[in-house]
Amino acid sequence: MVMTAYMEHKNLANETIDAARAGEIAGNVHAVLDRVAAAEQAAGRKEGSVRLLAATKTRDVGEIMAAIDAGIRMIGENRPQEVQVKAPGLLRLAAERGFALGVGGDATADASNAAASNTAAATNGMIPFHLIGQLQSNKIGKILPFVDTIESVDSIELAEKIARRAVMRGITVGVLLEVNESGEASKSGCPASHAIDLAQRIGNMGGLQLQGLMTIGAHVSDETTIRAGFAHLRKTRDQILASGAPGTEHCTELSMGMTGDMELAIAEGATIVRVGTGIFGERAFI
Ligand SMILES: *Cc1c(COP(=O)(O)O)cnc(C)c1O
Repeated sequence: MVMTAYMEHKNLANETIDAARAGEIAGNVHAVLDRVAAAEQAAGRKEGSVRLLAATKTRDVGEIMAAIDAGIRMIGENRPQEVQVKAPGLLRLAAERGFALGVGGDATADASNAAASNTAAATNGMIPFHLIGQLQSNKIGKILPFVDTIESVDSIELAEKIARRAVMRGITVGVLLEVNESGEASKSGCPASHAIDLAQRIGNMGGLQLQGLMTIGAHVSDETTIRAGFAHLRKTRDQILASGAPGTEHCTELSMGMTGDMELAIAEGATIVRVGTGIFGERAFI
């Protein structure tokens, strides 16, 4: 397994954290949920129309479970190797609490026991498990047993490879098309000018369900610029839906807004905000 540097000095499979750390995460979760509710209200949007995804990169199983215990009901990982390291523990501990997590593993490897209980014990419902970071095509097979939705699809080539794998497994994978609204060279995502065409083509692929669009806000201090990117993503989503093209009817989600810009994103129609630092504190690595 490929390890990135920080994975050598932090055991991401660790399940036990101290009470002070768990309390800190719980307090943060409540504060972020309050921010979401206040932003919904300020924007005149219905309470509960925005879902809070915890961005869990560099956090261990114990930290993630503390967030779930405090009310988090959607998680997102950036790196396939982190998904693989954490999934067995997360699945087992979620099942103990009556939750099904993501796809729930499959009949291979060490996730099998957790997988068996994933759906059987799901009395409290399902916690979606998303991939939100860049995906190399040789890692697709490794994450499909665990994540139900891939938010970082930004090319036809990647979508086709995921679709092929999904059809082979006999499953349907949720996908969001990632759009580079800011045009910043450092960012992943398709060019904004290609988004409608790509969405229509991805919507037509077997094995995938196009569920919406995702973007990362512009890395600038000017709120008008950040907001314009979010507004443009919403307009693009609306145009895709209005096109009536086959397979675009579920393209409703707008995953946009992070710790620093979630209020702007919610004002512009976000349905999912992805928050890491606000829930877990500053990242020690990356
Ligand atoms: C890390 C990350 C987030 C969360 O960022 P914070 O600023 O820590 O809230 C959201 N989306 C993606 C794609 C990320 O990689």
